Amino acid sequence: MTIRTRIAPSPTGDPHVGTAYMALFNRALAQQVGGAFVLRIEDTDAERSTDDSEQLILDSLRWLGLTWDEGPDTGGPHGPYRQSERLAIYREHVDRLIAEGHAFVCFCTRERLEEMRAEQRERGETQRYDGRCSGLDREEVAARIAAGEPHVVRMRVPAEGICRFEDALRGEIEIPYQQIDMQVLLKADGFPTYHLAVVVDDHLMGITHIVRGEEWINSVPKHKLLYDYFGWPMPVMVHMPLLRNPDQSKLSKRKNPTSVNYYREAGFLPEALVNYLGTMGFSMPDERDLFTLQEFTAALSLERITLGGPIFDQAKLRWMNGQYIRTLDDAAFAQRIQDWMLNPDRLAGLIPLIKERTEQFSDLVPQLGYLIGDRPALTPEQLAGKGVELDQAAQILHHYLAYLDQLRGWEREALFRGAEALAGFLELKLKDCLQPVFVAISGRKVSLPLFDSMVFLGSDITRVRLRDALQVVGVSKKQQKRLDKSFQSFEQAMLRDR
Ligand code: GLU
Repeated sequence: MTIRTRIAPSPTGDPHVGTAYMALFNRALAQQVGGAFVLRIEDTDAERSTDDSEQLILDSLRWLGLTWDEGPDTGGPHGPYRQSERLAIYREHVDRLIAEGHAFVCFCTRERLEEMRAEQRERGETQRYDGRCSGLDREEVAARIAAGEPHVVRMRVPAEGICRFEDALRGEIEIPYQQIDMQVLLKADGFPTYHLAVVVDDHLMGITHIVRGEEWINSVPKHKLLYDYFGWPMPVMVHMPLLRNPDQSKLSKRKNPTSVNYYREAGFLPEALVNYLGTMGFSMPDERDLFTLQEFTAALSLERITLGGPIFDQAKLRWMNGQYIRTLDDAAFAQRIQDWMLNPDRLAGLIPLIKERTEQFSDLVPQLGYLIGDRPALTPEQLAGKGVELDQAAQILHHYLAYLDQLRGWEREALFRGAEALAGFLELKLKDCLQPVFVAISGRKVSLPLFDSMVFLGSDITRVRLRDALQVVGVSKKQQKRLDKSFQSFEQAMLRDR
C-alpha cells in the first residue's frame, strides 16, 4: 500500500508552528516509503479565509523545506486542493446521505437554537441539537426549500451506544454517542462544515493516514459515522500530542510566538526550526538532538512518538539555532545574514527612515538597533509615561494589539488609523497614547517614526513586542476580561465612526 498523508490548514491567520509541526510528521511518514504528502487548503469558513493567509502558509512551509507533492499550487490527480472549489462535490455527497436517510434538512433558526440551548443549560444537560427537524416528511421539506426557507443539513447520530475506534498511538478509544451532536454538514451558504469536507476529501484524495493534533479526537465519532454511512474504509488515525507553553497550557501566542514568520524574521534558520519541531514528541533511536530533515524522514516511526505534551521552549530553540549557526562556514554565514536582513531590498526600506537623520554613517548603528536586532528588555516604569498611568498603558497596549491582530494587510495608513481611533476612544492626545507603543516597539522614548518602524518590522515582530510589553506591565485574569470587554466597545465605536 502506498502511504498518502496530508495537512489541511485553514487560511485564517498567521502560518502557525503547529501547522509546520504536522507538515513535518505527515511528510516524513509518506516520503520515507515513497508515498505522497498532500497540502489541502481548508477554506470552508468563507468569512475568515483570505488569500493572503493561504500565501503565507505556503511560503512559510516552503521556507522550512516542508514541500508537498500535491497541493493548490502544484496540482495533482485529486484536485482541486482548495475546499471552496469543491462545493459541488460536497453537495453531491450530502444529497446521497439525505437520500439514504443518514442526514436531514434542518430549518431551525438561530433564535430557536439559542432558546433550545438555554433550556438545556437550565436543566443541566449537554447542549446539543434536539432533533426537532429530523422527522419532517419529504414533501414538507421540499415545499419549504422551494419557498426559499433558509436551511442546513445535519447528520443523524445514534441515540445510544458507544463509538469505538483505533488511534495508532493511543489504542482503542471509546466515546458514547450521547456526547455527539447532530452535526451540521452543510451550512446555509452552501459551504460544507469541516466534518463533512474532511471526510469526503480524505477519502477522495486517497489519504491512508490522518496525522493531526489531539484536539480532533473528539470529532472522530462524527467522522467514523460518515465513513460508515458512505461505506468507505477509515484511514489510520494518528493524533499527535499538542505543543505546549512552558506552563503546560496549549501553545498560544499570548505566551509564545506561534507564527512561523516570526521565527523567520527574528533570525532563526529554517533547518534549526525544523529540527526543533522534530524533537517534539519524537526522539531519534540514538537520542541525539541534532538531525537533518532527511535523517528525520528516514528515522520517523510511530513507535518512537511519545504522548506527553511536548514543551515548545524558546531557550532550547535558541540553543539549537546557535548550534546550526556555528556549523555554517563563513561564506554561508555571510549569505544567510544577507538572506535574512542585510540585503538591498531590506535596506531600501530603511533608507527613507534614516537618511534625514544621519550625519555620519556611524550614526546608523545606534539608530537602527531596534529595527535590525531585538529591542532591549523593558521594565514597567518605562511603559508608563507622562499622563499615562500603568493601568492605562496596559489598556493602550492591549487594545492596539487586539486591533493589529485582526488587521488584514499591514499598511502604514491602517496602523495609523487604529492608533488615532484608539486615542479618540480613550480621550487621549495621540502623542500621549502612543508613548507605551513607542517604548514597546523600540525600547526607547524617542525613536525613528513609529508607524514606519512598524511597517519595516512587519506584523509578526511588531505584535510579539507589543505582547511582550503587555506582559511586562502584567495583566491579571480579571483585568484581561475587563480589557477584552472594553476592546469590544472600542471596536463598536470604530465601526460607528466609519
Ligand atoms: N483545518 C484543520 C486544522 O487546521 C484540519 C484538521 C485535520 O487535520 O483534520 O487544524
